[in-house]
Amino acid sequence: DNILLEVKNLKKYYPVTAGFFKRKVGDVKAVDDISITLKRGETFGLVGESGCGKSTTGRTILRLTDATDGQILFEGKDITKLKGSSLRKFRRNIQMVFQDPYASLNSKMMVGRIVDEPIRNFTRQTSKELEPEVKALLSKVGLREEDYYKYPHEFSGGQRQRIGIARALALQPKLVIADEPVSALDVSIQSQVLNLLKEMQTEFELTYLFIAHDLSVVKHMSDRIGVMYLGNMVEVGDNNAIYKEPLHPYTKALTSAIPEPDPLKKKERIILEGDVPSPQNPPSGCVFHTRCPAAMPECKKVIPQLKEVRSKHKVACLLYD
Ligand code: SF4
Ligand code: MG
Repeated sequence: DNILLEVKNLKKYYPVTAGFFKRKVGDVKAVDDISITLKRGETFGLVGESGCGKSTTGRTILRLTDATDGQILFEGKDITKLKGSSLRKFRRNIQMVFQDPYASLNSKMMVGRIVDEPIRNFTRQTSKELEPEVKALLSKVGLREEDYYKYPHEFSGGQRQRIGIARALALQPKLVIADEPVSALDVSIQSQVLNLLKEMQTEFELTYLFIAHDLSVVKHMSDRIGVMYLGNMVEVGDNNAIYKEPLHPYTKALTSAIPEPDPLKKKERIILEGDVPSPQNPPSGCVFHTRCPAAMPECKKVIPQLKEVRSKHKVACLLYD
């Protein structure tokens, strides 16, 4: 069937404790009831300011942290309760590309070992046996076969991210979660790495969950986009719909910051006032009301639900009720 991943009503709360006895005094609602459906072969972009819950969502899907509530169906099977060998078996289906390719690569290992390590963790194959395969993979990601014998510090940031991508692809996963994969790189090489990710998607028939704070990067990569604010999904739609007809006031502000290449189509930049409130003490009603240029009195009281208001385009905002 066509659906690879279905996240249903996912919640991730962290308890807040206080005092000597560390009594629980509340929750940080890092992810508060979000749902995502990923079709095979598509790229779903998850965008929002830092701290909005995008990375926590990715880490929960990878089972690096446990969900507080909700279901994560991978190929129809709920993976939130998997343990031991079944968790291990599931894990090879999903790999992650990290933000900082330097911090995520072991500086004491040569590239060949960095890339073959995930395969060695799951099979009995040796580095010697895997060498031809790993060298072929290095060529696929735009490195040279000789790079197999080098160490991370011998590479530029962009090349290190290519090593990180090779490592993520070594097990031929079905889903790749890319968490800010280019935000640590120079702007001049960002598009090279993004294009590599696109080529690899076709070559290996990958599905991507692409996480970034930068909407122009997400727009370049994604078929569909979900916009998160303070642990909530506020808008979901096709790439074009999100970019050309954003519905939520927060999405409108984000898209207004993307430079318009056509100088005749001047658009006004919407600057949001204030900072993102603490997720430990989120605003009542609509969590965006403290910064929303369109806020109405009822926005402080009523929690807007994510609803389909156009074809395949959902928004959580009382303006559309
Ligand atoms: Fe703004 Fe109200 Fe819509 Fe929230 S519900 S985004 S505060 S208009
Ligand atoms: Mg993050």
